[in-house]
Amino acid sequence: MELNKQESFKFYQLKPVVSDWIKKVCSQDLLLTTALENYGSPINIHHVPSFKNNLLSFKSIFDSFGLKNKIYFARKANKIIAFPEAAFRLNEGIDTASYRELAQCLEAGIHSKNLLVTAAVKTKILLALALDKEVAVVLDNWDEFHALQQMAFERNKSIPVFLRLSGFVVEGKTLHSRFGFSLEEAFEMVKNYFSGPSALVHLKFVGFHFHLNGYSIPERAEALLQTAAFIKRCTGLGVKTQILDFGGGILINYLKSEKQWSKFHKALKKSVLNQGPEITYQNDSLGMAVYQDSILNEPLVYPYYNEVHSCEFLKEVLSYKDDSGTTVAAVLKELDVEVRIEPGRSLMDQAGITVARVCFRKMDTAGNLMVGLEMNRTQLRSSSADFLLDPIHLPQSKVEEETVAGYLVGGYCLESELILKRKIAFKSMPKIGDLFVFVNTAGYMMHFYESEAHMFELAQNLIYDSRKNNLTTTV
Ligand SMILES: *Cc1c(COP(=O)(O)O)cnc(C)c1O
Repeated sequence: MELNKQESFKFYQLKPVVSDWIKKVCSQDLLLTTALENYGSPINIHHVPSFKNNLLSFKSIFDSFGLKNKIYFARKANKIIAFPEAAFRLNEGIDTASYRELAQCLEAGIHSKNLLVTAAVKTKILLALALDKEVAVVLDNWDEFHALQQMAFERNKSIPVFLRLSGFVVEGKTLHSRFGFSLEEAFEMVKNYFSGPSALVHLKFVGFHFHLNGYSIPERAEALLQTAAFIKRCTGLGVKTQILDFGGGILINYLKSEKQWSKFHKALKKSVLNQGPEITYQNDSLGMAVYQDSILNEPLVYPYYNEVHSCEFLKEVLSYKDDSGTTVAAVLKELDVEVRIEPGRSLMDQAGITVARVCFRKMDTAGNLMVGLEMNRTQLRSSSADFLLDPIHLPQSKVEEETVAGYLVGGYCLESELILKRKIAFKSMPKIGDLFVFVNTAGYMMHFYESEAHMFELAQNLIYDSRKNNLTTTV
């Protein structure tokens, strides 16, 4: 067939880290093909024990520093209810970002004290629900504060509140954010509304919160030190801070090889400058801006390879030293606060995969192999310009190995509808009915941007039980 005619090509592998349960699922064609027959393509498969392990290992880091701690899973990273339920069974918490995220957790029987509302936009019905169930709310701005105070007064309800802080100064520069109060504003609020005999009775101040953009260890550590100093200022007003919550943004590592990661970047830059072969669809720069013969910025992609990640990342934040040589952990311990984090992606590490079926193969006008999958690109999408992990190809019939390269395309009727922008090398020509497994997609990739254009249904979510070796549906 014409499809096999390919000029010689170069390819750059990005081999993913694959945990044992994923290998076991991938070794069972029947389990997967049956699930796809029953639920359509693609399916998302989740593994709750991986989530629990991630959560417990973060706790063990805090414990090793002797810090009181509680982990609040940021459920916006993945919407199935099984993860919040698992967090609750461990008596940890869930950070909710919308009315429905909160309502569903409450309906599942999760206690209010294990819940938190950080939603970027807090609607009246969300605040009313939080008040009714006495779920703690993180306040972001004065309008929110006044709205909540007014509603609490009208209902004669009292709830715990946190203040979200921002505007930390690191290396002489203010970390930009649209969220939170500046330290001065927060101090004014604490002084006028949470201290002394005139303190509000309906809003009970419990602590401070921040969540920084990006993945910098020093920025998180410096923000913690500045918050600690701020907490001492508030203590001077007679206000006790019980909890300090420093949000999410703990890096994870998706890839096996640093070498592959750096080789890919070099090759991408060359190809974008037309000095090397195409390795992304139509030389997509993945967010790099090119001016004349130079590249102005790095690709706008998640840093998929990380030497320091997960627990090690957390450890480094807590071990960071201030100017006097005192560690962040020691500073926090002296404050006698409960330390919290709200990890999303890092709790989802290795907790889910996405599986799709091949529907067709063809060549585009430039002679590139297109492999059409029964899925669309919003089902494998985050804010990163591409998901830079090789998928696992599971041929459904005996084939001779002969490497071919091409692109995976999806169901939305757009020229730009690529599942992955990167050119992928396949060990054999994909055939109709073959499966592709995308590894480590539970954090943001499968749910965050999933849409129903063309009236396509949302992908079915399933849970894999290793002991029973079966898949069950979930919402
Ligand atoms: C998104 C978000 C998180 C989780 O961030 P991750 O990078 O997934 O760990 C935590 N807290 C808040 C307020 C968020 O908006």
